[in-house]
Amino acid sequence: MLQIENIDVFYGKVQVLHNISIKIEQGEIISVIGANGAGKTTLMKSIVGIVKPLQGKIKFMEQEINKLATHNIVKKGITYIPEGRRIFPDLTVIENLEMGAYSKIYSRKGFNSKIEEMFHIFPRLKERFRQLGGSLSGGEQQMLAIARGLMSDPKLLLLDEPSLGLAPVIVDEIFDVITNINKIKDLPIMLVEQNAFMALKISSRAYVLEVGHIKHEGKSSDLLNSPQIKKVYLGG
Ligand code: ATP
Repeated sequence: MLQIENIDVFYGKVQVLHNISIKIEQGEIISVIGANGAGKTTLMKSIVGIVKPLQGKIKFMEQEINKLATHNIVKKGITYIPEGRRIFPDLTVIENLEMGAYSKIYSRKGFNSKIEEMFHIFPRLKERFRQLGGSLSGGEQQMLAIARGLMSDPKLLLLDEPSLGLAPVIVDEIFDVITNINKIKDLPIMLVEQNAFMALKISSRAYVLEVGHIKHEGKSSDLLNSPQIKKVYLGG
């Protein structure tokens, strides 16, 4: 459903992505792993048109999208959840969720049932629906960021470092939620992570990005067992 074909991306004269090709099929979770500065965030920004590839093509549901403006790409059904959980700290949980539905026209009934769906997936948010976003714990804020992204009923979800800065037990919870969303909604998810172990565990396929180049790709289970990947990304 998403095909990235041989893209080159520059910031000014500096090339940060070199001839990158990646595909995502309906219903799968794929992960992109790599160290700091490998170009993972730039890759996601390229998909949603925040940065424009100089070469190559990005196709979503058979249509070329790399020349479209970001708001039009979002309207086509791609939701990008940036790293750092940028929720609205001064709005309540429910108001944050309302903001997530801005690109979608819901009837009151449709909106309420969407909120109920989110509360079903994220019971912790239900318990805290009147609480200000900024007063939630880091893990709860990440859940809110994901729930807000789901309010627009995306066809593809891009998740940038959902585990960043969270305690291991919360990371487990977040990854369980990601797996559940994928299963319940058959939603394709592209996950960008420095936490290679967790990302490889929940994805079916993965790409390894090193200073802007894809160095390895394949089934996540194979990468988890690869001595090279173990040594560099899995701590032995
Ligand atoms: P991290 O895990 O640290 O977020 P990343 O893999 O997501 O890293 P990017 O943020 O995509 O990496 O950055 C890739 C390279 O591009 C880095 O060398 C970074 O310094 C550079 N870069 C990122 N954004 C810009 C920008 N707006 N202008 C110039 N260079 C940039």
